Amino acid sequence: KKELLFSLKGKENITKDGKAIQLYANIGNSSDIGAVLENDAGGIGLFRSEFLYLEKSDYPTEEEQFSVYKYVAESLAGKKVIIRTLDIGADKQVPYFDLPKEENPALGYRAIRICLTRKELFKTQLRALYRASAFGNISIMFPMITSLKEVLEIKEVAAEVKAELKKAGIPYKENLELGIMLETPAAVLISDLLAQEVDFFSVGTNDLTQYTTAVDRQNPMLDKFYDPHHLSILRMLKLAADNAHKNGKWIGICGELAGDLSLTEAFLSIGIDELSVSPALILPLRQKVRESSVGPVNPDWFL
Ligand code: PEP
Ligand code: MG
Repeated sequence: KKELLFSLKGKENITKDGKAIQLYANIGNSSDIGAVLENDAGGIGLFRSEFLYLEKSDYPTEEEQFSVYKYVAESLAGKKVIIRTLDIGADKQVPYFDLPKEENPALGYRAIRICLTRKELFKTQLRALYRASAFGNISIMFPMITSLKEVLEIKEVAAEVKAELKKAGIPYKENLELGIMLETPAAVLISDLLAQEVDFFSVGTNDLTQYTTAVDRQNPMLDKFYDPHHLSILRMLKLAADNAHKNGKWIGICGELAGDLSLTEAFLSIGIDELSVSPALILPLRQKVRESSVGPVNPDWFL
């Protein structure tokens, strides 16, 4: 079986009836890059930047972040590297952030909500990302989006960062892609509007399942109620994919569900453009894609 998978390296991710998809890798640390390249990922679809903050006793500086992002971008040698901005809070606590104890951390002060209230923290990360963009194919992705206003505010901060870099004569990629995670029902339901403001969507099915079905993803007592196969999730994926494509944007999935082989054909058929999974799942997914023949959208999936 290992040899069969090995023989898939260098092959395209294309179905029997000619539908192509990008297969990217999720990583949580720059030490995962070896596995990304070994498993022949087309790029990195989710680089969880939290580790930079979690493994330290104080805020990582712009220089520290820049050198990690640059290293990842250079290692991928022109392949797409989608770096997600800080997603601290809720389940991921960092002592030096001094976050208050909350009744409902999953509904609380986390991710983009921290970034948009502590702009200096956000700008430090964005500066490091824009600077690193001169060394490879970096895109930036923002977590926990719920409104258009947040996206417009993010774009304002990004424009400020670019203007500062330009003024200082520091190189960066002008038209770097900015994308958002769709991981709240609110974002999915206004994805027609959001698609006009961003370059891509990536669906975070872990949080989307949690928020849509009102099941705490951290609570083991609820394991049997946590159901990413819930019909609501497939319907939302279809809605978001249609809204992305109507606006000429691409859409991927970077939550665990992306690696679920029982849904690969459904994803292909509704036009999901990219799946991002842990490196070890890339080749099994490629095999699944190459064995598939998807045809038109099957309405039964959404009933
Ligand atoms: C998700 O919510 O599906 C996701 C990819 O983000 P994380 O698991 O890091 O919250
Ligand atoms: Mg998430």
